[in-house]
Amino acid sequence: MRYRSLGNTGVSLSVLGFGASPLGDVFRVTDPKEAEQAVHLAIDQGINFFDVSPYYGHTLAEERLGKALSGRRNRVILATKCGRYGADSFDFSSGRLEKSINESLARLQTDHVDLLQAHDVEFGDIRQIIEETVPALRQIQRQGKARFIGVTGYPPRMLAAIAQEAPVDVILSYCRYNLMITDMDVLLTPWARSQGIGLINASPLHMGILTEGGAPAWHPAPQSVKDAGARVVELCKREGADPSVVALRFCLDHPYAASTLVGMSDPQQVRENLRALDAVIDPALMLEIQEIVKPVKDVVWASGRPENADRAATEKTRS
Ligand code: NAD
Repeated sequence: MRYRSLGNTGVSLSVLGFGASPLGDVFRVTDPKEAEQAVHLAIDQGINFFDVSPYYGHTLAEERLGKALSGRRNRVILATKCGRYGADSFDFSSGRLEKSINESLARLQTDHVDLLQAHDVEFGDIRQIIEETVPALRQIQRQGKARFIGVTGYPPRMLAAIAQEAPVDVILSYCRYNLMITDMDVLLTPWARSQGIGLINASPLHMGILTEGGAPAWHPAPQSVKDAGARVVELCKREGADPSVVALRFCLDHPYAASTLVGMSDPQQVRENLRALDAVIDPALMLEIQEIVKPVKDVVWASGRPENADRAATEKTRS
């Protein structure tokens, strides 16, 4: 396993991170035993970064991860979130956050998390996030319940805009840097790097689009993106390459993101994703993939309040 510094935090994360949203049955029903085995295998293979949220499976993912980490807590860097509790349920107030962290700590069976993040901030009021939410996270940090704090979400410019006014230690960006899209590196990475803010890149498989199983029914991407992703998967299979390994390999090479978070829930997936660490992708295959993706490259979808959308992203969606 390789490890990279998380900005200026002094913490090193495994380049491959364990996304625990599938433990909440977000993509499909998960076998709890297999999920636990997946967590244990990942730790034994050197994966030290685990990311979860009370939102995933309405607390189920935190419950399952907490149980699986029992006796292993000190071997991992544990991240959870607050502020999002359902598809349409958000509360970024300081009062809710104070309760939220205590509930998460109980489910995760620990007295502190390493990283506490405001979850999907584009669904909130940016002034509230800056003036109330981030200060509340700092207060929780001072209480020793979180070592570091951060924000997560979809529009990279908004994440940077928040951190400019209310500094955070870490930013988690998802579905903005993988085979289908790389605009994180235009809208967020250079600035985050210049500030020493830790960067985490999530959803290297574009939330399932770049897997044999394809996108889940709730996936918000336009059909053209899903179709192109399916053609990439077909091409990889025809060429004898594992599509997930190819997609993950692309993200693991990122020069600044400390960890790439991939959602996993069984030992087989953990083994496959570990293979990506040493995989060599045929440059000719990569060129063919780029040709397929070209017509939909960097296409985004709406997420959160309209006023929080990245201007460039909105323009691209409309075009
Ligand atoms: P992803 O791109 O990692 O795709 C996950 C899907 O791919 C799941 O269905 C999983 O079962 C499947 N998969 C994983 N490995 C596979 C393999 N080897 N072969 C076939 N299928 C495989 O998307 P994600 O899970 O949404 O993102 C990863 C993690 O990042 C999440 O679990 C979460 O921890 C984090 N995340 C955070 C936010 C946020 O904070 N707003 C948003 C998205 C993701």
